[in-house]
Amino acid sequence: MAVDPSRTVSELKALRELTGDENGAQRVAWTDTWERARDWLRRLVADTGAVESVDAAGNQWFTLHGESERAVLIGGHIDSVPNGGWLDGCLNVVAGVEVLRRIAGEGTPPVTIRLVNWADEEGARFGRSLFGSSAAAGSMSDQDELRTLVDRDGTALPAALAARGVDLDSAIGARAELDTAAAYLELHIEQGPVLESLGLPLGVVLGTFGVERHRITWHGQAAHAGSTPMDRRRDALAGAAKLALEIREIAKRTGGGAVCTSGGVACQPGIVTSVVETAEQLLDQRDLSAQRLAAMLAEARTASERFAAEENIDVEWERIWSIEPILFDETLIGFGEEAVAEVSGNTHRLPSGPLHDAAEVSRSGIPTVMLFVQSLRGLSHTKLEDTREEHLELAVTALDLLTAKTVAWTADGGGR
Ligand SMILES: [Zn+2]
Repeated sequence: MAVDPSRTVSELKALRELTGDENGAQRVAWTDTWERARDWLRRLVADTGAVESVDAAGNQWFTLHGESERAVLIGGHIDSVPNGGWLDGCLNVVAGVEVLRRIAGEGTPPVTIRLVNWADEEGARFGRSLFGSSAAAGSMSDQDELRTLVDRDGTALPAALAARGVDLDSAIGARAELDTAAAYLELHIEQGPVLESLGLPLGVVLGTFGVERHRITWHGQAAHAGSTPMDRRRDALAGAAKLALEIREIAKRTGGGAVCTSGGVACQPGIVTSVVETAEQLLDQRDLSAQRLAAMLAEARTASERFAAEENIDVEWERIWSIEPILFDETLIGFGEEAVAEVSGNTHRLPSGPLHDAAEVSRSGIPTVMLFVQSLRGLSHTKLEDTREEHLELAVTALDLLTAKTVAWTADGGGR
């Protein structure tokens, strides 16, 4: 029995009909539409014989028991941002159902297969992404902060969760779900333009970028725009401007997909008749290698000190947020490459800029890999998000091959 990838495309269209409108997907986590999508998924899986359970964090699991308790996990998220695309997150869940059907049709598998629909990957309503996967991975440690979160209509996060039967204080109990996990697989749309620009339908994801975010404050001296000669100015904006251009060179020199962004500069006093006294600059740097990321940060700091000296101003750095790169499993990356090559004749390895549920699972120590399928125009989180149907079908087949290789590997003692 083989997978029927065209069925996955039809089912994704049915989900779009059921939970979208003229502005796009509306499956925001913890809402009635989200619950309707979960109920739809429940009915879709029913005839595979996989057993449904909902864990302490609201994650929806479908378990096909095998000869061994050790489990290969296939994950995705059916929640969307408001006015979202029709594929983000749900592609993998629906493709995973097709893989479950294939495996169930072949009798009892040697290891257990579990499909997980993570709860609230997007964080669209309360601003906290990766809710369910971080609870399961044991990395949720911000419950005090979560208790204070309120949505636009004034509903508190704990109340929204309680309405769906989830108790925030018990959510980390979801951790037990990963006790038997041997490996984790996730298929996702790329949400960027790289595969399309290379003319490739699919790629294997090496891991998720590490991120360094800083606020850089430049201190100069406000002075009259008419009476201050050019060589007497202490212009805070000049430092920020030089750094905004320099980080592009730093990213270029680093190469390998490294990116640096100066996302904004706020100037004081910010009037047309004064030299800028204070410029607050935001910097975001990302790379897959912790060493290269640290080097990019050091280069930017050194450059900022040089510019401060050149402009006779002061510069101050403050870290806003950071996360280390999360690297996926080498063996599974190899299986992913084999699967992609088998269905498309080509393969390509690429990093992920966005974080995904897979990153949470990976950093909890479970061998993990992701496949990306091409996104048209690189667009996502909009109703314009799209992928060619033939590429979606290749993606389903690639996920199925990757799952088969992973099942054989874990049955043989591979994985955690
Ligand atoms: Zn997603």
